[in-house]
Amino acid sequence: MTDASPPPLAGPLFRRRLDGSLPLAVRGEGCWIEDAAGRRYLDAVGGAYTVNLGHGVEEIARAIGEQARTLAYVNGVQFTNAAAEHLAAELAEVLPPPLRHSYFLTSGSDAIEAAVKLARQVWVERGRPGKWKVISRRPSYHGNTLAALALSGRESYRRPYLPLLLDLPSVPAPDPYRDPASPACTGEALADELERQDPETVAAFLFEPVLGSAGGAVVPDAVHYERIVALCREHDVLLIADEVLTGMGRTGRWLAIDHYDGLPDILVLGKGISGGYAPLSAMVATDDILDTLRQGSGNFVHAQTFSHTPVVCAAGLAALRVLKRDRLVERCAALAPRLRAALQPLAALPLVGDVRSIGLFAAVELVADRESREPLPRARRVAERVAARARDHGLLVWSNGGHVDGERGDLVLVAPPFTIAEDELDEVGARLGRALAEVATEEA
Ligand code: PLP
Repeated sequence: MTDASPPPLAGPLFRRRLDGSLPLAVRGEGCWIEDAAGRRYLDAVGGAYTVNLGHGVEEIARAIGEQARTLAYVNGVQFTNAAAEHLAAELAEVLPPPLRHSYFLTSGSDAIEAAVKLARQVWVERGRPGKWKVISRRPSYHGNTLAALALSGRESYRRPYLPLLLDLPSVPAPDPYRDPASPACTGEALADELERQDPETVAAFLFEPVLGSAGGAVVPDAVHYERIVALCREHDVLLIADEVLTGMGRTGRWLAIDHYDGLPDILVLGKGISGGYAPLSAMVATDDILDTLRQGSGNFVHAQTFSHTPVVCAAGLAALRVLKRDRLVERCAALAPRLRAALQPLAALPLVGDVRSIGLFAAVELVADRESREPLPRARRVAERVAARARDHGLLVWSNGGHVDGERGDLVLVAPPFTIAEDELDEVGARLGRALAEVATEEA
């Protein structure tokens, strides 16, 4: 039952914004969201890179309802269930073997936490308990729970909680827009850090193969990726690929790692895995890792009430079947040039330093100086103002700040549903162009 009565807008809900500025969303259809005042928004970022199949997909709604009626919940240590079993099996058909074993959770953050724990447990069970450190990159974003945040290179999210965060090593992430030959871009930064840390203390390296919201659709070249895979193999460091944002088709292939050679040991999926219809994420492990656990303790020392939950897995299964049936990953790849063309005119606008994209994931990087690529003063909050202007024009995009040095860096991000129409993609470019031009005029 949905409650159709008007909600108490001055009510007790602890909202995501406390200034009373949030409109009340009442319905979604395709790429559009409507609010209670009848305003329509073109959702060019799928909420937050999540609504990959569009709003209002009947089959997914039906699957959730049927599962809820048949069997809403069982605990994963008392029973397995058909929705989770089918989802793991059908997911394995699109994942590169030997990455086959999905452990379902409910958010990207908790799947990252589970991946880090699993990596540690594997080394304990392989008789090498000295391996515990996890190296990550900055900028990066792996989630907001404490270990995921400790491993994230997002200074503004970390700052208030620093005393609570584990102090773990990190290396710079590639920034080919600023320096394609830097040690971060070639992979040498990781080689140096491994040497500094002593690989016998390092359990895993956690990275986003294509940098998501924190770096802004940065696509490192194959040399960089292959160097990372080789270093991890050489030093017995487990490779954890965070594809919470990029997985399930966003880059025009099922996974961002499908653009490269070499596989991680653990893969993390979230966001688009259920298209936003239910809170679902997955930590996917290789045969090797499962063998280690089976031959060792026989158990992953982890438990969450809502892991492997039937209703949530049913949503994921229905979303996966729609993705396959409607060939939406292929559609995402086919629409990539149209998105690029729609955004390319923005590159000529005053504040715009770079426009980059892969699949249906794009970033517009804003700078103070297009020649030197000098970032804007963060205090001006230019990316946020562009996103606010876009919203005034009925367009939802995402803004991020701080990727250049933890403080400075302005990004506007776009990641529409794969079902978006070609003329809607043109509309994304046109409305974002208007917003950028208005903010550029204010800044001039
Ligand atoms: N990893 C990446 C790459 C993400 O983009 C995000 C969220 O934006 C997360 C992890 C955390 O996911 P969640 O917000 O579902 O906890």
